[in-house]
Amino acid sequence: MTGMKRILENQWIGGAWTPSDAQAGIDVIDPSDESTIATVPAGTAADARRAVAAAQAAAEDWAKTPVKDRLRFLERFVARLEARAGEFADTITAEVGAPIQVAQRVQVGLALGIAKSFVEITKNFAFERTVGNSLVLREPAGVVAAITPWNVPLIMIIQKLVPALMAGCAVVHKPSELTPLHAYLLAEVTAECDLPPGVFNVVVGEGPVVGAALTADPGVDLISFTGSVRAGRQVGAIAAEHIKPVHLELGGKNASVVLPDADLDLAVKATVNQACFNTGQACLQWSRLLVPADRHDEAVALAGELAATYRVGSPRDPSTDVGPLVSAAALERVRGYIETGLDEGADLVTGGPEPLPDLPAGYYVQPTVFGKVGESMRIAQEEIFGPVLSIMPYDGEEEAIRIANGTPYGLHGSVWSQSLDHATHVAKRIRTGQVDINGGPFNVLAPFGGMKQSGIGRECGVEGLDAFCEIKAMQLPDEGAEAMGPSARGQA
Ligand code: NAD
Repeated sequence: MTGMKRILENQWIGGAWTPSDAQAGIDVIDPSDESTIATVPAGTAADARRAVAAAQAAAEDWAKTPVKDRLRFLERFVARLEARAGEFADTITAEVGAPIQVAQRVQVGLALGIAKSFVEITKNFAFERTVGNSLVLREPAGVVAAITPWNVPLIMIIQKLVPALMAGCAVVHKPSELTPLHAYLLAEVTAECDLPPGVFNVVVGEGPVVGAALTADPGVDLISFTGSVRAGRQVGAIAAEHIKPVHLELGGKNASVVLPDADLDLAVKATVNQACFNTGQACLQWSRLLVPADRHDEAVALAGELAATYRVGSPRDPSTDVGPLVSAAALERVRGYIETGLDEGADLVTGGPEPLPDLPAGYYVQPTVFGKVGESMRIAQEEIFGPVLSIMPYDGEEEAIRIANGTPYGLHGSVWSQSLDHATHVAKRIRTGQVDINGGPFNVLAPFGGMKQSGIGRECGVEGLDAFCEIKAMQLPDEGAEAMGPSARGQA
């Protein structure tokens, strides 16, 4: 994609490329060299309204489409996504700056895995069940506004789009203004699969314009938002005004808790790897490593040694471990946090705020490890969203659990111990939506989401499909009703 700038002027509305009302464009920057690779419209509230109207017009027929026909669409969709996987990976490398092997294996590979998982989930889903004399129906929630961030952009929209379509909903997608290009490809893919016009729409533009317009639109029945706590709070406030269901998948400050009997070497290496994955720009990043105080220095040495070996460089080089951050603003923020860590008195083990001399252009930052990080330091409390790991010593298991739970977030985490029982016992006391034990791998069938300020609701798995359903109970005049007595007849 490098070398040629694409000028995109359309939105994907009602199954057709539709000119935007935009008076201005948004430049899409390649974070590896700061070049402009495309310009997309700075979409307007009127674009958003048109897309919602198209979704409303399509929603009823799609809702009536039998589940087996929706599943046929999903099979075609997965096949086309797979056929164009290379293009998606190259696009994500260009717009996010994700190292190409991360783009192929995770950004696209996992997105495909999630899409495929919904074949079986949908086949086995209880769209109808009976309880007593009631028929309980899972009906489509209606028109969904799907608002997504830039860090793993295809995974984010697949987690919303596929279950929403399988539930029978129509979708308007608002991708991040930093990374809209994958969404143009996705629109092409849905058209190649003969998804009826209007069932999927894309409106690119700024969050406070297009995102806010979608959130407030009376034609939107449900908002599915992934992004920062800051924007999530604004979306939630508008949703509250309209009494509109809202799912919020927000940030994290996840702890990797190494218990005294754990294999320290294994736990530290896995944590450093995970902390630097996608240049540290992952909501499930383990940004805090909690170790017993008497093993702190050993952990620091191991972590510093490993992080210093990471190759920082062009995301198109397959041997790159850490690419650039997504934007100039992200670089400034992450460097600012590293300086804060130094000011707060944490020990700098490796990395630092200085630019990398071999990489004069692009938003590169050094993978950075801090030791002796105190609980109340900002680098221990706030989401940095960069390759920065804080190593925190603790005294005793109670303190470890207290520190792990001692932030406003509750998204993810991990526990390490030679004893599975012990690790499980501790994991149960960690207030997060997911916890990995001894490096247990990501499971597309498991619900994903946050407690506390990390969000409301779950994506993936059966819960991720249920999230796009409304529930209706119909009471039937059967013998069951007689058996249940007068209250079942509405006299209660
Ligand atoms: P962001 O909140 O800045 O933007 C996310 C999306 O919301 C974008 O499309 C943006 O345009 C839109 N938006 C911004 N303001 C809005 C408003 N007022 N109304 C409606 N929409 C608005 O977040 P980001 O920088 O793109 O992404 C990084 C954040 O996302 C991190 O905090 C990260 O932890 C979080 N995240 C969470 C998960 C999860 O599953 N919990 C996954 C990935 C990323």
